[in-house]
Amino acid sequence: MESQANSPRGAFSAIALVDRFDRPLRSLRVSVTDRCNLRCNYCMPQEDYVWLPRQELLTFEEIARLVEVFTSLGVEDVRLTGGEPLLRRDLPQLVRMLAGNPRIRDLALTTNGVLFGEQGKALRDAGLHRVTLSLDTLRPERFAALTGRDTHAQVLAGIESAYRLSFPRLKLDSVILRGINDDELADLIEYGRSVGAEVRFIEYMDVGGATNWSLGKVFPRTEMLERLTKRYGAITPLNENSSAPAERFRLPDGAVFGIIASTTTPFCRSCDRSRLTADGLWYLCLYAQTGIDLRRMLRGGAPAEEIAECVASVWRARSDRGAELRAATGKRGVLVGIEQLRQDPHLEMHTRGG
Ligand code: SAM
Repeated sequence: MESQANSPRGAFSAIALVDRFDRPLRSLRVSVTDRCNLRCNYCMPQEDYVWLPRQELLTFEEIARLVEVFTSLGVEDVRLTGGEPLLRRDLPQLVRMLAGNPRIRDLALTTNGVLFGEQGKALRDAGLHRVTLSLDTLRPERFAALTGRDTHAQVLAGIESAYRLSFPRLKLDSVILRGINDDELADLIEYGRSVGAEVRFIEYMDVGGATNWSLGKVFPRTEMLERLTKRYGAITPLNENSSAPAERFRLPDGAVFGIIASTTTPFCRSCDRSRLTADGLWYLCLYAQTGIDLRRMLRGGAPAEEIAECVASVWRARSDRGAELRAATGKRGVLVGIEQLRQDPHLEMHTRGG
C-alpha cells in the first residue's frame, strides 16, 4: 500500500511506503550489541545471559548496507542502541559511515551513559547528531540497587559531558517504578534543567526480559501528572501531532518534559519504528515474536534491490500493534518466562534494541 506522506518530514519522497494502518517506514533502531554493562532490574535482572555468537554479529559494513536499504525506502531517523551500544568496539567508525548517508536526517544514540564521558567527543566528531541518556535515579545507592553496578558517578559524568559537547535536543530517559523511584520525578526534571536536557518518564513495560514485571509496579502516566501538578501547578499538554513516543508537557515555569506511556496508553497507531538486531534480524514491533532474517539475505549475496523488495513487502503487510494488544490483555503478567528467553534470546529487549 502506498499513500501520500502526511508528515512534513515525509517531503523526502512524495510517496511513502506505508503499512496496513497507513504508518510510514520512517524510524529504524539499530542494535549494535546485545551486551550490557548494567543489570537493570526491569530489563536484565539475570547476571548472565545467552549471548549472540560473535560471528553472527553484523559488521559495520553490513550494518551500513542494510541502513542504506532502509533509507532508500523512506527511513530518515536512525538510532543506535543495544544492549549498551558503547560496548561495541570502534562505534565512532560506524557513526562516521552512517553520517555519510545523506538520507538520514536524525542520527541518534541511546546509551546508559557509563562510557559516554570517554567516547562522547569521538562520537560527536564522527557525526553523531543527538544522544539520549538513560537515568532513573539521582541517588547512587538506589542506582546500585537498581542496576547491580556501582557506576552512578560515571553516568552523571557522561550526561555532563554530553551537555558540554553541546549535543542538541539532549534527552534523559527515566523508567519510573512504583515504590522505587517515583519520588524523584521533580528531582529528575530539575537535574535535566541543570544540564540542558528534557526528561522523559517511561512507564515500566512488560517487554521480553522484564521478568519481574507486574502491573502493581507500574507507575502510570496519570499518577505522574498528578504528582507533578501538586509540585509545580497546572501542567499544559503540548498536543503535538507527532509520531514520537513521548507525549510532551509544559510546567508553569516553562520547563518541558515527556511521558512515554506505552503500558497504559499505547501509541501503536502512530508507530513508525522497527528494529534491527546486532545479528541482522528485523523486528516490526517490540512485542513481535519473530523477526525477518536480513543477515541471511545479505550474506547469501542478495543485491540491495532484492533486500529492499523484501523489506517493502513485509512493511506493506505490517499490522503489528503489540502494546495495544498487551493493554487489552485481561490478566496481565510477565510476557516471556526465563526458560523461553534462554531458548530464544531474540525475545529479550536488550537483544532487540530498546
Ligand atoms: N543501554 C542503553 C540504555 O540504557 O539507554 C540502550 C538500551 S536500553 C534497553 C534502552 C531503554 O530501554 C532504556 O532507557 C531503558 O531504561 C529502557 N527499558 C528497558 N527495559 C524497560 C522496561 N521493562 N520498561 C520500560 N523501559 C525499559
